[in-house]
Amino acid sequence: MAIPVPSRQLFIAGEWREPLLEKRIPIINPATEEIVGDIAAATAEDVDMAVDAARTAFFSNEGKDWSSASGAYRAKFLRAISDMILERKSLLAKLETIDTGKPLDEAISDMESCASCFKYYAELAEALDLKQKITVSIQQQSFKTHVLKEPIGVVALITPWNYPLLMATWKVAPALAAGCTAILKPSELASVTCLELAEICRQVALPSGVLNVVTGLGSVAGAPMSSHPHVDKIAFTGSTATGIKVMTAAAQLIKPVSLELGGKSPILVFEDADLDTAAEWTIFGCFFTNGQICSATSRLLVHESIAAEFLEKLVDWSKSIKISDPMEEGCRLGAIISEGQYEKIMSFISTAKSEGATILYGGARPQHLKKGFFIEPTIITDVSTSMSIWREEIFGPVLCVKTFTTENEAIELANDTDYGLGAAVISKDLERCERFTKAVQSGIVWINCSQPCFNEAPWGGNKRSGIGRELGEWGLENYLSIKQVTHYTSEKRLGWYSAPRKQ
Ligand code: NAD
Repeated sequence: MAIPVPSRQLFIAGEWREPLLEKRIPIINPATEEIVGDIAAATAEDVDMAVDAARTAFFSNEGKDWSSASGAYRAKFLRAISDMILERKSLLAKLETIDTGKPLDEAISDMESCASCFKYYAELAEALDLKQKITVSIQQQSFKTHVLKEPIGVVALITPWNYPLLMATWKVAPALAAGCTAILKPSELASVTCLELAEICRQVALPSGVLNVVTGLGSVAGAPMSSHPHVDKIAFTGSTATGIKVMTAAAQLIKPVSLELGGKSPILVFEDADLDTAAEWTIFGCFFTNGQICSATSRLLVHESIAAEFLEKLVDWSKSIKISDPMEEGCRLGAIISEGQYEKIMSFISTAKSEGATILYGGARPQHLKKGFFIEPTIITDVSTSMSIWREEIFGPVLCVKTFTTENEAIELANDTDYGLGAAVISKDLERCERFTKAVQSGIVWINCSQPCFNEAPWGGNKRSGIGRELGEWGLENYLSIKQVTHYTSEKRLGWYSAPRKQ
């Protein structure tokens, strides 16, 4: 039976409010191409109201109601949110699947990750109380210095559509743990579960204005946040092109930004690897979530001595991926998020063909699925380093392949990208893996695996993949401001100026 998508407004100051211009954006189920509901389309005036609500909440009762309350107090709300996500896991996962086209099993696992991330930051909020007033050891006897970690203020959190609730959670949980108040702007292509998060916050009685959720188009509802004088920080996850716009706008006010952007990550398979194990990690690394993962290891570099056999195995493994309606049991490849993204991926594939690359497997709509934005898992060989399929982020189930002869050549090819998010190496030789780890220019390295992600470990990229790290302690630091407090403890005068003569 079809699940009805709840009709929601904007969530501002703890209540549901219609957008001032009363406009809506349709929600399209990418697996059926049907309109299944709509979301509110906010404009700059709605954003102003949300920022005012967040500001009021930040300073409420001189901060004692939230921003300067104890971490332990805030942790209670984070735990309540976590519990309610778990309680509603099944419904939330179904809504996520309807909204994004991702397989239901993936959406269920996403919801579990969201719940555990809120719980993890509840622990860090409590631990923050013990990290206040840490003494800084200084050379001078007559001064004493300590450090306060304070919430940075009102933060705007702008997120993409590939992991709608999870990417929002990676920001909302640490921001609230730190004591910030926030405005979340999810992607217009997938806002449903972020609106359900707002409803959960209402039900656990999160103080009003602490989290506001404003839906709408990026250029209309997102852009005003980057340039808003009362937004103290922007945390953005999305494409590098939009990241540039966000950073440019924020720079005018010296507003701090953290950016989680695109990628074109490599996976290296050496001749000593177990080929079936390597094949499974390779297809998982590129076809999980339909390849719509910033860190997808979408450039395969395989040693020439095993290339033919390995590619045969990859094709066999790819054939075993179940492509179906994402609600169907056992589905492992669902639909692409939107028609626009579907067309973009298809155009990358046809450009690669016209440039002389070979489509070894896939490259088309699966024949058994007549409706929905489905694309077969695709493996492309005969690729040169100047082709767009090698250089640009495709954000779809497309793996491009090159062979290498020496380790140095493999490292050079791995680093032949403007991006620097993830990198994977598959080899039994751990010293070689260690050499690769040091030489590769990326924020994350996976040895004998691809894509695992943990609440406790830092996530983020180098080069054009972004600035800063999310998750772990680093994720919390994103929302904290460091205040140095220095106390002159001597009774003696400073003695730098001559004392004025007594009249
Ligand atoms: P996108 O850049 O199109 O949109 C991201 C968000 O920015 C959306 O909420 C959108 O509405 C908003 N936006 C658009 N224009 C804006 C503007 N001018 N000002 C402010 N906000 C604006 O990205 P997307 O298509 O939603 O997501 C896919 C991209 O996200 C990929 O490039 C992917 O690599 C990246 N991503 C990165 C990570 C990471 O951790 N590094 C994680 C997930 C996705």
